[in-house]
Amino acid sequence: MSEHSLLDDALIRLDEAAAHLSIDPDVIEKLKFARETTKVRLMIRMDDGSRKSFLAWRCRYDDTRGPTKGGIRFHPDTTADEVETLAFWMTFKCAVMNLPYGGGKGAVQVDPRKLSKAELERLSRAYIQAFARIIGPDRDIPAPDVYTNSMIMGWMADEYAQVVGQAEPAVITGKPIALGGSLGRGDATARGGYYLVRHLAEELGLGERLRIAVQGYGNAGQYIARLFAADGHKIVAVSDSQGAVQSEDGLHIDLLNDAKASGGSVVATAGRGGHTAMDANAITAVDCDILVPAAMESMIHEDNAGAIRAKVLLELANGPVTPEADTILAGKGAVVLPDILANAGGVTVSYFEWVQNRQGYYWTEAEIHERLKAIMEREGRAIWERSRDAGMTMRTAAYVHALNRLAEAIEAHGTQSFFAS
Ligand code: GLU
Repeated sequence: MSEHSLLDDALIRLDEAAAHLSIDPDVIEKLKFARETTKVRLMIRMDDGSRKSFLAWRCRYDDTRGPTKGGIRFHPDTTADEVETLAFWMTFKCAVMNLPYGGGKGAVQVDPRKLSKAELERLSRAYIQAFARIIGPDRDIPAPDVYTNSMIMGWMADEYAQVVGQAEPAVITGKPIALGGSLGRGDATARGGYYLVRHLAEELGLGERLRIAVQGYGNAGQYIARLFAADGHKIVAVSDSQGAVQSEDGLHIDLLNDAKASGGSVVATAGRGGHTAMDANAITAVDCDILVPAAMESMIHEDNAGAIRAKVLLELANGPVTPEADTILAGKGAVVLPDILANAGGVTVSYFEWVQNRQGYYWTEAEIHERLKAIMEREGRAIWERSRDAGMTMRTAAYVHALNRLAEAIEAHGTQSFFAS
């Protein structure tokens, strides 16, 4: 595992992309640092009457291309470095998809599984009370991320409305439909990746009947398994933080999803429907066509990348592959569909939600799917062509693609601008 910070690792990708462009060094200097990271300690009342505090952050990494956009993560191991890195990735992700946003991210250092529902609601509301002056529909727009969901976004939208004294649904995305959420937001991250793979299947050398392994069985993992299985592909292995199961004949998605819905692990399905338990660490070495990292950062690293047998990796997690692992995978001829493209379906439908909130007119699910598909295919194809023509990895091509847009916007603001300062 690497010794340097997560942001140091992320900036390696920026340097690699910059080497392919004749870009003003001022642009790189600007993109190397987060513009604003606010840290607070949230105090909430626990159900037993005691008070407890939790560290929380909101980072607005770069707002050159528009208000900052990015989720809020609830996780016990989260750090300021992680939040800033995730916000850096959001900056590039929004530029890859040409969404009119910069990049942001937020987090609370907490294990939400240890809180009651009432405590979780108090914590979510405390987050908005603390950051109400930083966020806003034209300033910074949060959304769900790891261990946060539409219920939490609903509480947060409600709290923001109370602070500012009026409904402001566009301040946050991923809300329940009843509070101005968008149809199609739930499976958008997975669906975007699914459209991308379908569109580039021939170029990627993928056949008719695919074998797929999914590392991480949260929101993105569950939906990608369902989407691929519905097309007749086999999900041969899935893992979560408790363990993993496999089946040569294909896992039963309903069994897996029922186990997750009742708060359990995929491991609980072992012994049923031909599922057998396996070591979660072995998922990367499973014989398959596509490996879908859908868990946490840096889970594919120099010690396990060599054993990967998939020819394509679809990064639904943010930052799952370290730079060292990238080099190993490129050496083996495996194609990594990079996070800032592959999982950008989530923020793209968040953008649709924000647009619908602002216009007060709502689209059908079919319209959402059609618009998402069009953007995934347009940007995915452009990046594929750049990668093929310049002989660079899809990741470098995606960074170059985004960096061009960021550089153009930074320059357009003018040299005296606060944005360019
Ligand atoms: N948390 C998601 C991501 O990492 C979605 C962000 C958003 O919708 O703003 O892309």
